[in-house]
Amino acid sequence: EGDSLPVSAFLGLEDGAFPQGTAAYEKRGVAINVPEWQVENCLQCNQCAMVCPHAAIRPVLTTDEEVAAAPEGFVSRPATGAQGLHFTMQVSVMDCLGCGSCAQVCPAKEKALVMKPFSTQEQKAPLWDYAMSVSRKANPMNKFTVKGSQFEQPLLEFSGACAGCGETPYAKLVTQLFGDRMMIANATGCSCVWADSVPSTPYTTNADGHGPAWGNSLFEDNAEYGLGMYLGVRQVREKVAMDVAEVLANDQTPADVKAVLQDWYDHRDDTEGTRERADKVTAALEGVKDSCPVCRRIYDRRDYLVKRSQWIFGGDGW
Ligand code: SF4
Ligand code: SF4
Repeated sequence: EGDSLPVSAFLGLEDGAFPQGTAAYEKRGVAINVPEWQVENCLQCNQCAMVCPHAAIRPVLTTDEEVAAAPEGFVSRPATGAQGLHFTMQVSVMDCLGCGSCAQVCPAKEKALVMKPFSTQEQKAPLWDYAMSVSRKANPMNKFTVKGSQFEQPLLEFSGACAGCGETPYAKLVTQLFGDRMMIANATGCSCVWADSVPSTPYTTNADGHGPAWGNSLFEDNAEYGLGMYLGVRQVREKVAMDVAEVLANDQTPADVKAVLQDWYDHRDDTEGTRERADKVTAALEGVKDSCPVCRRIYDRRDYLVKRSQWIFGGDGW
C-alpha cells in the first residue's frame, strides 16, 4: 500500500533521499563459477580489482597482528611496496557475478585467479567479512595509477549490473579517485538501472560518511541537469566566499580564525587539500558561530566548503 503513504511518513527522508550502500546487504550468491586466488602466482598488480564490475575482488593490506587474528583459510603474502604489511586479493564469493573478467585480465604467467565452481568456494564468504573489517591503511601508492587506485575504497559496489558490465568498472574507478566529494547527474538508461534499483543502492560512503551524491532525471536532459547541479553549487559557494570575505574584514574576528578562513578563501577552487581546508574552517567556526551571525551562515553551509567534483553519467539511454 505504498501509494497511500504520504511523503511525510518518511521521517528524515522527506526530500526523496535514500540511504547509501544498501546493495551491500543483498549477497546474491548467483555466480556459477567464482575466482580462487593462487597466492604464489600473484604479481600484486591489482588489475583484477580494476576490471571487476562489482567491486567483488579487492586488494587488502594487513598487519602481522591482523594476519595472526584472521580466520582459517585467510591467505596473504608480504606486500610489495608497503613495508611491514601483508597483501591479500580477497574475493567476495557472494557478491561476485562470475563474469571471469578478473581471471581473464590477470597477467601472471601461471594465472593467479582460477575460476572454480561456486559450491567449492561458498564456505569462504566469511573471509571477505574479515578482510573488510581490518583497519584501513594509508594508500602506499600513487592513487592515480592502476595499482594505487585499487587501494582506494570503491564507493560504488555490488551493483545489479550484468556480469561483465563495461560501464561499472569505470564508474567505480571515478568513485575511487573523487567519490568523497562527487555529484553525479545520471541519465535514464542502463546506468540508472544499476545505480538505483531501489531499495538497492550501490553508491556508498566511506568511514567519514562521505560518498557520491547521485540523482537521475530524464533520458534527454542530462546535460542540463548536470549543468544545473554545477551552477547551483557554484552559486552557493560564491555566497559562502562573500561571507568569508566579510568575516575576514571584521576587526572582531580572532586572528586564528582569520588565518584558517584566509587559507580557504585563497585556495577555495583548488582540488588538492580541499577536504582538509573545509574541515579546518568547520572546526574554527565552532567557537565563534554563536557570537557572529555571518560565521553561523558559513557554518550552516559547511557542506559547500569542499570543492565538489561534478560528473554527468550517460549510459545507453543518453
Ligand atoms: S568473476 Fe567478475 S564479478 Fe567475480 S570477482 Fe571476477 S571480475 Fe568480479
Ligand atoms: S591480476 Fe592476477 S597477478 Fe594481478 S593482482 Fe590480480 S591476481 Fe594478482
